[in-house]
Amino acid sequence: MTTITAPSPTTYELRGWDLSELLPAPSEEEITRRFAELEAAVVELERSRESLTPASPRISPQQLLAMVRRYEAISERTSVLANYGSLWFNSDTGNQEAITFRNRVRQAVTAATNRTLFFTLWWKALPEEEAQALLRSVPAIPPAAPGAATPAGPAAPAAMAAPAALAAPAAPASMTAPAPMTALAADPGALTAQQIADYRHFLLELRRFSPYTLDEKSEQIINIKDDNGIGAVTTLYSMLTSRMEFTLEVDGETKRLTRDALTSYAFSTQPELRAAAYRELYRVFGQDATILGQIYVNVVRDWHEEAVGLRGYPSAIAVRNTDNDVPDRAVDVLLEVARANASVFQRYFRLKAGWLGLERLRRYDLYAPLASSERKIPYAEAVRSVLDTFGEFDARFASLAERVLAKNHLDGEIRRGKRGGAFCATVGPRFTPWVLVNYTGRVRDVATLAHELGHAVHSMLAEHHSLLTQHASLPLAETASVFAEMLMTDRLLREEADPLARRELLAAAVDDVYATVLRQSYFVRFELEAHQAILAGRSVEDLNETYLAELAEQFGDSVQVAPEFRYEWMSIPHIYNTPFYCYAYSFGQLLVLALYRRYQEQGAAFKPGYLELLSYGGSARPEAILGKMGIDMTDRSFWQGGFELVRQRIDELAAIRI
Ligand SMILES: [Zn+2]
Repeated sequence: MTTITAPSPTTYELRGWDLSELLPAPSEEEITRRFAELEAAVVELERSRESLTPASPRISPQQLLAMVRRYEAISERTSVLANYGSLWFNSDTGNQEAITFRNRVRQAVTAATNRTLFFTLWWKALPEEEAQALLRSVPAIPPAAPGAATPAGPAAPAAMAAPAALAAPAAPASMTAPAPMTALAADPGALTAQQIADYRHFLLELRRFSPYTLDEKSEQIINIKDDNGIGAVTTLYSMLTSRMEFTLEVDGETKRLTRDALTSYAFSTQPELRAAAYRELYRVFGQDATILGQIYVNVVRDWHEEAVGLRGYPSAIAVRNTDNDVPDRAVDVLLEVARANASVFQRYFRLKAGWLGLERLRRYDLYAPLASSERKIPYAEAVRSVLDTFGEFDARFASLAERVLAKNHLDGEIRRGKRGGAFCATVGPRFTPWVLVNYTGRVRDVATLAHELGHAVHSMLAEHHSLLTQHASLPLAETASVFAEMLMTDRLLREEADPLARRELLAAAVDDVYATVLRQSYFVRFELEAHQAILAGRSVEDLNETYLAELAEQFGDSVQVAPEFRYEWMSIPHIYNTPFYCYAYSFGQLLVLALYRRYQEQGAAFKPGYLELLSYGGSARPEAILGKMGIDMTDRSFWQGGFELVRQRIDELAAIRI
């Protein structure tokens, strides 16, 4: 294990990351020990099962908190194992040992999840008065004070002492807990105010689903029937679409390609190749259109029957909104404002046509590359520049990001077998997050580095919370990352004199906003219409026409859309697997744009509220967190602020002379 003694290094070099904090080494002995610890933690929670039968006397609030704590202990152990598995695999995807380890962990985690399900099911199904009475007796603690992003250590008042028998450490005394877990094991039974507040929020979160939870028997029947019913139907969708083969002629050679390989030609510099790739994609989807359409009809009917019919959700999309904890009205407003601003992107597409020397952009050309700058930024310079930018915004932002580097938790080098792209993994409040990027030295890579380190900073600002509440909920999950990326883009633009690099940077930012805000919101608009149409008995061909009409509205006359795009919706897995999910992307991105706009207007006055927002993590409801900053999600003008920023970026782009 690497021991860090010096403060942060002043020169940074590209390398892999150090995972030894999670597992000193993936030896058989160590793995066996960790699985045994997990087993012991599960058994510990299972012991409470008898006290939860309806016939038994009521449990006390102390017992309830103790159970949450055991549940948390299991989650911590599974998180360490699962993350080690995926981080190891992602850094070396061809490694058989890594693959085997990941599979073993998956099995163990699934088994543990199934065995602990009884606890959350019991809590959700508890009669409202009983649950309320229990929660009332759990003392309500005010959430973290502004900027109080310090770990709730021994100094925090122990507001409640749980009975010793129930608050026993998760690992039996005979086992040596690994280093990061000692804090848990060493705590004899007192809960801090912060822990109680976090557990309370976790319990309240589960209860939000109670009105839509059926009796145990019905839930079991649905689970069993889903496995061979709608679950099987969506599996068929995945099987059908992932075995598709595509042929494309590239430079005189006929190639047989997977979908990923085919769609990479959407980024080709050759216009005809871009067009041919899209035509082939939808030719193949079109061949199976009848089956794929029928699968979707079943998905929609099943969704409606179960969610609206049996569970009593007010609408099909309300299921997703409840999941995201976002009011229905806020989503309506978001989709409306996005639609009203389609012309902002239409202007961008007209500009892009000009840069590419085209009369009018075809849908095939949407992701066509612009001439790119040759300039390369050395890694060390990029890191310093990101840290400087963070430091200019807030000293804490920079020092937290620096911790990721000092702990050697950043894998930035390009290696054979390493996963592409970029991500940040938060394992839990006891660990500094791990970040993966593939740094090639392009200006764009610097913005990506800032984005992923922004995720890490977000998690670290919330590391005084429980594992159960540290993660920001989906709509708020990009609040630091996209913001950090925008700070970085602005700085790079200030320093960049090369017009090609400036255009590349700005255009990449606008491309991202288009793909996450407008495109995704139009997917959801289509889904809303499609669900209605299917319930009204309309045909799949009607759905295709509806989709084309939505595209026509989205692009106006700025982009020419060929008729084969009628099948595009069938190629979007989210539309099948997680209906209405896509608006979460629009929501998250637009929220940050709107926040950034506020930062431009308010300057330093903006910072304390923003840092407080981040330090909540997922420990309060999105509405409450945003409300603290005076943000009303149902207010059109707030969302409009986000689009004003996009407009500004496009103005800057229009002004660049090459
Ligand atoms: Zn992100």
